[in-house]
Amino acid sequence: MTRRTILAGNWKMHKTVEESAALAASIAAALKDKPSNNSSAAHEVVVCPTYLALDRVIAELKGTSVLVGAQDMHWESQGAFTGKISGDMLRALGVTYVILGHSEQRAYFHETDETVNKKALKALAEGLKPILCVGETLEEREGGVTEKVVETQLRGAYAGISAQDALNTVVAYEPVWAIGTGRTATSQQAQEVHKFIRGLLTSFYDSETAEAVRIQYGGSMKAENAAELLAQPDVDGGLIGGAALKADTFLGIITAS
Ligand code: PEP
Repeated sequence: MTRRTILAGNWKMHKTVEESAALAASIAAALKDKPSNNSSAAHEVVVCPTYLALDRVIAELKGTSVLVGAQDMHWESQGAFTGKISGDMLRALGVTYVILGHSEQRAYFHETDETVNKKALKALAEGLKPILCVGETLEEREGGVTEKVVETQLRGAYAGISAQDALNTVVAYEPVWAIGTGRTATSQQAQEVHKFIRGLLTSFYDSETAEAVRIQYGGSMKAENAAELLAQPDVDGGLIGGAALKADTFLGIITAS
């Protein structure tokens, strides 16, 4: 089964609206003449700016093949939830993907497996494609509980999601100790966990569904390590933080893939 590589830039709380539009424009311009992102190409490119910049970035990328994702959403359509944005609002704007359960949301903003699941179900109901993040801390890896942690997070995220809807999800395996630290998982470490995740998806659904779901690696991915990571049989893309903030470093990863 050939899975289309998905390279997504998570811009986190970086860049003004103008800066975001400029970065989106440079990425699109560089990819324009390459057959890199049309539907028959081997990979798909996504950028995830702040909520504030989504509208401008979507306008900037109109007519290009670069897709846009949000970094989170609420599970309700609307209501008294100060500071929150709903999936309905994202869909109305033209957003395609939404990152859910990022480790920074889990660590700093009380994200739980249950809230990830509520958001994922709502995202799918709205026609958005969730990128579901899982991953262990350094303490958990050193304690030998990586698989247990990843299984609990994944089981939680996929609760109540049908096999058909699962096809519209992406998993991001992001070892917390590798995010923003410059320390990358080895390709072997990544492959081991990705294979484990695919096995779990097989047990939740069936092998055909599990073979079709893409599993991204995230954690200090850059041009220098992308090719080796992406060459692993179960590594189907990257969720990229720091290296996605500049066109040349992000494009370096796309080229390496
Ligand atoms: C991320 O935040 O999803 C991430 C992988 O960040 P970085 O590439 O900076 O480690």
